[in-house]
Amino acid sequence: MRSPATGPRVLLKRLRDVMAEQLGPQQRLDMIVQSIASNMVAEVCSVYVLRADNVLELFATEGLNPDAVHQSSLKFGQGLVGRIAATARPINIADAKEHPSFAYLPETGEEHYTSFLGVPMLRSGRSLGVLVVQNKVARQYHEEEVEALETSAMIIAELVAAGGLEGLNERGIGLDLSKSVTLKGVPLSDGIGSGEVVLHEPRVVVTNLFNENTELEIDRLRQALSALRISIDDMLSRGDVARDGEHRDVLEAYRMFANDRGWVRRMEEAILNGLTAEAAVEKVQNDNSARMMRQSDPYLRERLHDFDDLARRLLRQLMGKPQAALGKEMPKNAIIVARNMGAAELLDYDRDCLRGLVLEEATPTSHVVIVARAIGIAVVGQVQGVVALAENTDSIVVDGDEGVVYLRPPADVATAYAEKEVFRNTQKAHYSSLRDVPAVSRDGIGIELMLNVGLAADLPQLSETGASGIGLFRTELQFMVSATLPRLDEQESFYRNVLDEAGAKPVIFRTLDIGGDKVLPYMQQIAEENPALGWRAIRLALDRPGLMRIQLRALLRAAGGRTLSIMLPMVTEVREVVQVRAMIEKEKNLLAGFGHQLPTTLRLGAMIEVPALFWQMDELMEVVDFVSIGTNDLFQFMTASDRGNTQMANRYDSLSRPFMRALLDVAEAGKRNNTSVNLCGEIAGRPLAAMGLMALGYRSLSMSPSAIGPVKSMLLALNIERLSKRVLSQLKEPSTGQTMRELLSDFADEYGIPY
Ligand code: PEP
Ligand code: MG
Repeated sequence: MRSPATGPRVLLKRLRDVMAEQLGPQQRLDMIVQSIASNMVAEVCSVYVLRADNVLELFATEGLNPDAVHQSSLKFGQGLVGRIAATARPINIADAKEHPSFAYLPETGEEHYTSFLGVPMLRSGRSLGVLVVQNKVARQYHEEEVEALETSAMIIAELVAAGGLEGLNERGIGLDLSKSVTLKGVPLSDGIGSGEVVLHEPRVVVTNLFNENTELEIDRLRQALSALRISIDDMLSRGDVARDGEHRDVLEAYRMFANDRGWVRRMEEAILNGLTAEAAVEKVQNDNSARMMRQSDPYLRERLHDFDDLARRLLRQLMGKPQAALGKEMPKNAIIVARNMGAAELLDYDRDCLRGLVLEEATPTSHVVIVARAIGIAVVGQVQGVVALAENTDSIVVDGDEGVVYLRPPADVATAYAEKEVFRNTQKAHYSSLRDVPAVSRDGIGIELMLNVGLAADLPQLSETGASGIGLFRTELQFMVSATLPRLDEQESFYRNVLDEAGAKPVIFRTLDIGGDKVLPYMQQIAEENPALGWRAIRLALDRPGLMRIQLRALLRAAGGRTLSIMLPMVTEVREVVQVRAMIEKEKNLLAGFGHQLPTTLRLGAMIEVPALFWQMDELMEVVDFVSIGTNDLFQFMTASDRGNTQMANRYDSLSRPFMRALLDVAEAGKRNNTSVNLCGEIAGRPLAAMGLMALGYRSLSMSPSAIGPVKSMLLALNIERLSKRVLSQLKEPSTGQTMRELLSDFADEYGIPY
């Protein structure tokens, strides 16, 4: 009896020879189908390649009518071949005519053949074509034959991906891989970005497909697997990974998968069939990715993604590149394409080269998006499947206004966008011309337009935008981008620099808002079922006062001789503010004792993010000097909908009556208590929402730098008192009537207000 792998191995050897020969592309493809047919004792072997117009064209055949090559075709999804491509799954059937999808192509002469085995030619889970064998006798193909055909299909897919078959078809239609794709997502940061794709996690390209020595390759796979397992165990036992926590759960899942017998067995089988260890990992991962694309259950998708990550790590082990190749060469106009990423990871890229960001996930209030907006690049999120479709260096246009991504855009789209960019530049010039125009409404009400920033590099925006100050300085960003905990002197000089740059303009420093989704890599994390509701921000600071004390000290020292404004995130009870005030007093005394110069004025404020504060509003306003509403968090808590959850992103409206009524309450409490009220959530930067806020009585808004121009432009055209009357009377009406959003946009249209 022959060993189970003999057939496929011989075939693979043969294919390797064919690939090595000096042949034209058509000739090579013809020899491939001949070799497969003869090895598998099939009367027919055919290759169908997916074209850019979504048609599968017969590119080569052994056994069918040779005149049908480049003439015969099927639509994607049509017939057995179309179905295989569409589902990315094989079809193995003893009598093809019995299959409900069967479509007969008379010009090929395939009526003589009964049994049919077709497999998708997969690359990163996408079908680039279909490889088929057929026989006259009715027979079911063995599992081993399916495996052999799949392996051959992968080799042809590599040939397609390498551009080896371009230009073969007579009609001059390009192949699917190079076609332009338009993908709809959600606009997350305004602007247009055009440039080159940079995959955040670049695909590892396996070039060495055929193995010379099976035992050696099995051994390499086993060694890489055990190195992978050790590296995961290592990560799990390292001090910087907390005993519990989400991060740990992911690693635990990785460890489980790294020991998954099914996964390992499938890779070993692929090696037995003649592939190298790398190619075997890739082959198994291809099937996995195809499954992932079909999977609609978010939990299972997530688990399949874990496998994807693990396979990438394994490939790096095998190819001697255990670390992600960060610090890679960046094109001058990079558009980062990723499934998702952390804020700090985005900041690892050279900011001068960043033109845009495309994510498969993320929402408007995800931190990576907030940072991207601060940098001023266009972002589109929730773009399904973009990572699999994009290749490094592909051309790409990101329309952050409309939420559309054009991958490999046709020339006319690229030209249209170049024009749009010119228009945007004119608009930008218009906004910069407004820089020194006072932010005063048509009816003479002055509004403070302030900035949300967090990095030293953001500071020039203060003079560029003409903003009146920094309404929210997210101090945690310095901590998030640092590899180790910033020391006292580092913090102090950082804050001093911020104050120097701001000059006479006010700066509100928010104390560390970490925990929840803002993770510091060097800090222990604890497992929390609901991190957003968990041990974060001021809660963590009060329980572990060491960190807070150092930060307060650094702030007090940096602001010696000037005004210092400190704001506390996630306040839930008034007593928390009182406790921090006591800590500040202690630090002040300490510094004074050492002869340090203290700030001339100290203003302490609280963020209103937790609904519980609504029933302590007057009390709160008595103990603080100012408040600032963090609508990103407040909205998620009031509507019980996670700010980072894609499913929830557009479910509830932040301009709906209940939320606007709540914001009105705060504005009125501010007037009643003579406490200044600012609002620094993302809605402050959206002109239509900002209009609504001004109508509610808000006179100080803090937003990302790119929003200052559009909001000011709206303000200059707005009669606040007139809108206010309308808004306040409509706010009392039942929620089922005209929406507040409609009311605002109708008003803006009526008075020609840009929004
Ligand atoms: C907010 O919650 O609205 C806010 C401004 O803080 P962050 O987005 O940093 O949580
Ligand atoms: Mg917040």
